[in-house]
Amino acid sequence: MTVKKIVFVSHCVLNTASKVEVVISRGLKEEELLRKKFLLKAIEKDIHMIQLPCPEFNLYGARRWGHAKEQFDNPFYRENCKSMLEPFVLQMKEYVCNSERFQVLGIMGIDGSPSCGVNLTYCGQWGGELSSNPNLSSMLQGIHPKKEKGVFMEVLEELLHKNELDIDMISLNDFEKLFL
Ligand code: SF4
Repeated sequence: MTVKKIVFVSHCVLNTASKVEVVISRGLKEEELLRKKFLLKAIEKDIHMIQLPCPEFNLYGARRWGHAKEQFDNPFYRENCKSMLEPFVLQMKEYVCNSERFQVLGIMGIDGSPSCGVNLTYCGQWGGELSSNPNLSSMLQGIHPKKEKGVFMEVLEELLHKNELDIDMISLNDFEKLFL
């Protein structure tokens, strides 16, 4: 029997329309190149992709600002992430339990995201009223990379532990590891 290989992917791996609207930067162009490389290889290798929900789009919509991790690190956002992820964790369990038919290769996130970062997120003391903040520029510049998961991936990691699921979490940046 052929074992079907499955990877769970952050929503924007398949649908970049969910992302925050930004001026296209060099970093984003590189991400887009990687995304296409990954998708082409996944199709070529007959890997099945399951799309996780986009927590930021679901909670803040298409007109949201970019955020720092601290702004999402609150009980309300975490609880909503949990509700979104629980049905997917059930799917993971079912696939893992039927290992003669399925192999879950991993969960792929997006480094840099305050929600879906796996190895890297962005932190900063952002918040408050923008229009009347006299120090807005210096506050915005205080954002910095940090080697930790975004909030959505942290919640997912907790759910994996709770359900005794041992599934690798990798970043799109490291997608080649899936095919080793
Ligand atoms: S929250 Fe996650 S899925 Fe949504 S756009 Fe950001 S990285 Fe992609």
